[in-house]
Amino acid sequence: MASFPTRETTRLLMDRSVPGRVGAILPDCDVPFQKLPDQSLLRAELELPEVSEPEVVNYFTCLSQLNFSIDTNFYPLGSCTMKYNPKINDEVAFMPGFAGIHPLQPAEQSQGALELLHRLQGFLGEITGLHAVSLATLAGAHGEFAGMLMIRAYHQARGDTARRKVAIPDSAHGTNPASAAMAGFDVVELASDKNGNVDLEALHEVAGPDLAGVMITLPSTLGLFDTNIVEVCKVVHEAGGLVYGDGANMNALLGRVKLGELGFDVAHLNLHKTFSTPHGGGGPGAGPVCVGETLAPFLPAPVVIHQGDSNGAAYNLAEPEHTIGKMSGFHGNFGVLVRAYTYIRTLGADGMKEISGNAVLNANYVMQALKDTYYLPYDRACMHEAVFSADWQKSRGVSGLEIAKRLLDYGFHSPTLYFPMIVHEALMIEPTESETLETLDSFIQAMRDIDREISENPDFVRQSPHTTPVSRLDEAQAARRPDLRWKREKPFL
Ligand SMILES: *Cc1c(COP(=O)(O)O)cnc(C)c1O
Repeated sequence: MASFPTRETTRLLMDRSVPGRVGAILPDCDVPFQKLPDQSLLRAELELPEVSEPEVVNYFTCLSQLNFSIDTNFYPLGSCTMKYNPKINDEVAFMPGFAGIHPLQPAEQSQGALELLHRLQGFLGEITGLHAVSLATLAGAHGEFAGMLMIRAYHQARGDTARRKVAIPDSAHGTNPASAAMAGFDVVELASDKNGNVDLEALHEVAGPDLAGVMITLPSTLGLFDTNIVEVCKVVHEAGGLVYGDGANMNALLGRVKLGELGFDVAHLNLHKTFSTPHGGGGPGAGPVCVGETLAPFLPAPVVIHQGDSNGAAYNLAEPEHTIGKMSGFHGNFGVLVRAYTYIRTLGADGMKEISGNAVLNANYVMQALKDTYYLPYDRACMHEAVFSADWQKSRGVSGLEIAKRLLDYGFHSPTLYFPMIVHEALMIEPTESETLETLDSFIQAMRDIDREISENPDFVRQSPHTTPVSRLDEAQAARRPDLRWKREKPFL
């Protein structure tokens, strides 16, 4: 069972405050004293904690332990790839030559950084089988939006302005229809067939002169590889449309499948999922867009080019000829890009293949081990994640959400719940490639134990978690009106 910090160790800094206690020694002032600003701007009532340095460290360390994290527990959150991120990637990103560089420094002073970006563009192009890459987009959804703008610009440049529709399967990630709509397209939903592939008949119906393109999440959010994918790309191309690939979950395909070879014209990757950057707390990400030759002139600026010039700067920033413009300040999230580069270089081509091999093996292992206990709506080999339904448990009175809460008592983070929406009571489990067989086995055992508990004592499961610092939160209020401020009257735990 999980153990958490106690009430004493998480006693709030304000409650530890002792007047006059200080945690820092400031050097003597070596600049002239200045008058304080207008007194009315100073807040006499502002209470600040007066504590020592060890108390601050103690407090924040305990606070960090109240959270689940990938560095402390198994985190099978489907579609999120919450995997272990090797610390070497952070270390390299923190190197002063990378961390201290200023984005406005001229190219001749930042050749090393630009070379790294140029090489990374090359690696990502090779990994996806696509022709050109821009690293400027800062998240998966941001890459999707850039891709949609490029598809729009491409049709417009050809005077083909009737193409207003983008078709998206019902098994796509939720960001896909949002990105297409934001780029001004009319979104048409494509049904999945009974195997979880895109329904080809439905696709033929929308493939006409008003179709700008389709957006395909591969593997789909059902964790499945669409076995008709080459045919899907062909149908769309024959109708004059382009194919967008959501490659956020590339850890299922790395080193084995190239999106460009399947027929995709444009795809994004989530470097903060597949290529190692700690994420989940809303920290920085990167969602580079990779394109075939057709869309290369439309890539977001800047891209890094190599001019092969021995005088001055060989690496430089450039704007593609018909660029859709800038998607972010400067060059993208540089620290995330350094981590991805380091990750790719430390693992190499064989390592890339091992990642996808293990990700898919782990997911199938969990799927096979649990499919007699939890209903498996699409009973076929999965990719990096397995999507179950909690319907069998629900019929005994316990929901997917309550199972997820009970898992916390066993020291496991919840799987993704109620997504994809086409699976009732969905439990989407992504074990990732970085977990050991022992961890998977204990997770499987916990899932089986919970199923047994549901038969024996459903109330106990419904009231879980029992061992966490706080039990049931009002989740709607926690999301909409988070209570983040210290108040004297209100204890924390
Ligand atoms: C995570 C994810 C996204 C969105 O990525 P963000 O970086 O969160 O914007 C899009 N598609 C799929 C399939 C994903 O898993």
